[in-house]
Amino acid sequence: MTYKKERLKALMNDPHEVKPDNQNGRRSFFKKAGIGGLSLAALTAAPIEDVLAESAKNVNRSSAPSDLKITDMRIAEVSDVMFRTPIVKLYTNQGIVGYGDVRDGAAKEYALFLKSRILGENPCNVERLFKIIEQFGGHARQGGGVCGVEMALWDLAGKAYGVPVYQMLGGKYRDRVRVYCDTTTSSDPVEYAKRMQERIDKGYTALKMDIGINLIRDIPGAVINNAGGKFDPYKYEYRKYNLTQHPFTRIQVTDKGIDKLMEFLDVMRSQIGYEIPMGTDHWGHFGVNEAIKLARAAEKYNLAYMEDLIPWHYMEQWKEISMSTTTPTQTGEDIYTLKRGFKQLIDMRAVDIVHPDPNTSGGILETKRIGDYASENGVGFMHHHASGPVSFLGCVHSAAATENFMWLEHHAVDKADWEKLVTGFDGPIVENGYVKVPEKPGIGVEYDDEMLKKYLVKGEKLFAPTPEWDNIRAWDRTWS
Ligand SMILES: [Mg+2]
Repeated sequence: MTYKKERLKALMNDPHEVKPDNQNGRRSFFKKAGIGGLSLAALTAAPIEDVLAESAKNVNRSSAPSDLKITDMRIAEVSDVMFRTPIVKLYTNQGIVGYGDVRDGAAKEYALFLKSRILGENPCNVERLFKIIEQFGGHARQGGGVCGVEMALWDLAGKAYGVPVYQMLGGKYRDRVRVYCDTTTSSDPVEYAKRMQERIDKGYTALKMDIGINLIRDIPGAVINNAGGKFDPYKYEYRKYNLTQHPFTRIQVTDKGIDKLMEFLDVMRSQIGYEIPMGTDHWGHFGVNEAIKLARAAEKYNLAYMEDLIPWHYMEQWKEISMSTTTPTQTGEDIYTLKRGFKQLIDMRAVDIVHPDPNTSGGILETKRIGDYASENGVGFMHHHASGPVSFLGCVHSAAATENFMWLEHHAVDKADWEKLVTGFDGPIVENGYVKVPEKPGIGVEYDDEMLKKYLVKGEKLFAPTPEWDNIRAWDRTWS
């Protein structure tokens, strides 16, 4: 058999096809050959390039990718249905648009500032454009603009080439991504446990609870140097408790306070059992010694992790906590990019698990890189997320394409309209605690203008023109 015929046979052989009987490939071969525009004789005689073109002609390309250019960036800022989130929409010269979310709580200007840097560029060059705009992002909300734009670029690139985003990252490791959810807090442990059980009843298979010294602050003798306590430590301070970093509050938790906090875990585990992974967050602002005391006390409850016990950048202190307990430690939702934080955290093995928010960490591709690096170094990997459904699905593409991935945060379980903000997803986005990886081009959904209007921030317009951001003159080079 000639090379050409071998290639043709390979092209026509669908490994997923279930053959009805023992008639092997011959019948389906003719059937498939008949579907195409070329006759079988013409097809077998055609050059291999024509055969490939013929085979790929049903691939949906919405665009001519090499001529695609960004023509505009506009914003719609929404709230109530999620934390206040500016949605970024990129327009092109070929009619296709791309969406991203500027992280919850971030300013729309963080994205608008980038408009002058990407106008006229081909959005399919995602990595090159990321390198142009990367310097204008930073930790926490300051990463929101770069990440929102990065996701919108992937959305456009996928739409232009007619493939889902995960495919452009190298393909997927899984068809569904597992989510974790937290719930509303109650100061009554029994009520709190009941609410967590309701999550399980809805199909969730991984949980997180917010538990911390705020739940015991009014119990006499539980917390020393309490922010709202008798000696009012912030009376003459320019920064209040919530803006004072952990080592500087000099809060201590007494044995009584620890017992009270452990009661929450005890009631929780008695109610929901030990089979479901359960993490914890929002412990409060206290230093390393208190963190170690609590982490040790919690060991018998086998938490999945204790999150953000101290700020992420105190890496030596994180390492001290991690070395002092068998309770897994976790941080990362405020770190921007691999080289500006995650690399060091992982190299030091300061925590057991890293928890990037792709709306801060650098977007879809950078987050995959962080996951790959964590994986090479034996550190667990999961995603924080608390904004819109487009970036949630952006996370799903990134997570699907990363080998070792645990859980993606779902922060809108109680907001029925959150999923309705977008169209194009077949069925519910989150079902039985998992998200099916979208197979449509790009991220796979479109924001619905009518639904966005319903939740627009007062005084904000829906994707209004932004010509004032077309030009910013500056020499951007960061080295000499
Ligand atoms: Mg957190």
